[in-house]
Amino acid sequence: MIRGFLLFALLTITGLLNAQTLPAHNAIPGGVAVLKIESNEQVSKAWFNKKRVMLIQHDGAQYAIVGLPLSIKPGQHRIKYQTSRNQSTHLAFTVIDKQYETQHLEIKDKRKVTPNQQDLQRIGKERDVIRGALRTWTQQAQIALNFDLPVAGRFSSPFGLRRFFNGQPRNPHSGLDIAAPEGTPIRAPAPGRVITTGDYFFNGNTVFIDHGQGLITMFCHLQEINVGPKQVVDRGQVIGTVGMTGRVTGPHLHWSVSLNDTRVEPRLFLPTEYQ
Ligand code: ZN
Repeated sequence: MIRGFLLFALLTITGLLNAQTLPAHNAIPGGVAVLKIESNEQVSKAWFNKKRVMLIQHDGAQYAIVGLPLSIKPGQHRIKYQTSRNQSTHLAFTVIDKQYETQHLEIKDKRKVTPNQQDLQRIGKERDVIRGALRTWTQQAQIALNFDLPVAGRFSSPFGLRRFFNGQPRNPHSGLDIAAPEGTPIRAPAPGRVITTGDYFFNGNTVFIDHGQGLITMFCHLQEINVGPKQVVDRGQVIGTVGMTGRVTGPHLHWSVSLNDTRVEPRLFLPTEYQ
């Protein structure tokens, strides 16, 4: 009886240690493809559109977790992967169409819509820094793919909206906006390491967290930043507060999730009640 219980407890603990939560397979523009790799050999590296892709172990199988850009065309796509014996092969998957809604925003600060020459120089430099941060790759086996909501509040603007600022078309909305009063604490949605922080023209005060294997979260428009570059953060640790720095119409957190340098729907990583 006791031996049975101990065996059960041991199996449960082992199960918990091996359990790595997978997001749902959601092969749409701006979604995440969760692809089981049918190979007898261990896959060492995988790529999508020449970008390194996350590989994780789940239930004794290997999975590629692939971020799909908003601009992806519906239809057949494939990842490339390499086995430990250096053989390279492909795995095909199908992307289904999704139409995102259009949003028109009025920005009072005209410079934030049509920046001047000096602003454009600043924006160009910042773009390189932001791109560099989002391309961070850290090799680690265990990845927390189950995020906590970084701040409590109303989802004021969904991911993927096709946006117009003062009537002019701009890039689609690459994150989820959560409205909350200025000064509300923002918490790390999962363990990670701060890549960098900065104050950018459009994004305002910003924090980037590296969660491993190309999974990066970005927090924008902060009032205060409470962490510094290379700092290791725990799940739930306060990293800053909600503000209205950069291009905003009111206080909110703009939260982006990036996988293989591709911005994807943040809600896919949240508990089901938010999806
Ligand atoms: Zn936003």
